[in-house]
Amino acid sequence: MKIASVEQFFPRHRTRLVKITTDTGLDGWGETTLEGKPESVGGAVRELADYLVGKDPLRIEHHWQHMYRSAFFRGGAILMTAISGVDQALWDIAGKHYGVPVYKLLGGAVRDRIRVYAHWGIGNLSDETQAASRERLDMLLKRGYTAFKTGPGGKWRGHEPPAVIDEFVECTYLMREWVGPDVELAFDFHGKMTPALAIEICHEIKDMRPMFVEEPVPQENVDALKLVSDHVTFPIATGERLLSRWEFRQVFEKQAAAYIQPDGSHAGGITELKKIANMAEVYYIHVLPHCAIGPVAFTSCMHVDAVIPNFLAQEQVDWALGGDILRENWKVVDGHIELPEKPGLGIEIDEQAISERAPYREELGGEHFYDTDGSVADW
Ligand SMILES: [Mg+2]
Repeated sequence: MKIASVEQFFPRHRTRLVKITTDTGLDGWGETTLEGKPESVGGAVRELADYLVGKDPLRIEHHWQHMYRSAFFRGGAILMTAISGVDQALWDIAGKHYGVPVYKLLGGAVRDRIRVYAHWGIGNLSDETQAASRERLDMLLKRGYTAFKTGPGGKWRGHEPPAVIDEFVECTYLMREWVGPDVELAFDFHGKMTPALAIEICHEIKDMRPMFVEEPVPQENVDALKLVSDHVTFPIATGERLLSRWEFRQVFEKQAAAYIQPDGSHAGGITELKKIANMAEVYYIHVLPHCAIGPVAFTSCMHVDAVIPNFLAQEQVDWALGGDILRENWKVVDGHIELPEKPGLGIEIDEQAISERAPYREELGGEHFYDTDGSVADW
């Protein structure tokens, strides 16, 4: 069996796909969504395709090594996202070839179902926002979710007046009041705080018992992250922008975070996500794979979630369950998704629908992330 073609699709916002077809007619799908860099990652996949066509698709580790190491310059979000999508598609092919779900090729499941958490929060204290928030919470609770994540919206400067901090803090306590003590609540700071401001806000919210605070500071400086972790009494999480084991190494060795959140479509695919999780296990660090993109990335994460003992919960945005991309959507029951049963990733892409659609045009630019004085703010 040899790889015959590598095609790409960009059917919707935050869902860019790669399809690898073999000369025996088997195909595999992967997701290469990279927000803000749609054309660049498309170019990287085209370059990898030159190498892949004509190769045996079942030599997944060998191809990963080639894609990562052979061009001398390695790593970076664009190449790692391209490798991730190709890696997922190769695993999909392997599962279909051997007639088993991917997780069975990764060592077999250590759990029977995957716990997922949804995005929910109270953005501000206005009556209108609270009513909409209540409505969404009721919908999610009916499906049994037991963990939610939100974050402080808007742009944050190096420091903010008490009114800005207090509104966010009050929202977190109101969330706890609404859900009670049996539900876990997490907060994503999106790496837009300084260490000092992050520590200040974490101290203010600690009595509502957060599950974790995510990316309190940007990802480049592990010592700054450790500074926050050392001053906060509840778990700190990071990792959606860290790529491969090598970028996680210092987080582990310095014990700079309690939880990690590698992204299955950025950190190196199914192959690398499992290795990162296994490495984290040594440090008693648990894994909540990041996924704020489409259903192929989400499904790929679930196969790794199935086989790693140090898994905590899987992030899931609404359209990751399938939206109009999958023929059959994943179902959340009792806050969990049953393990995939079909061979490969276990999904069927509605290929006709995505082929007929005009490629999605991602809006670039980003001037709305400027601060009031015209300087660049973090997202
Ligand atoms: Mg995040």
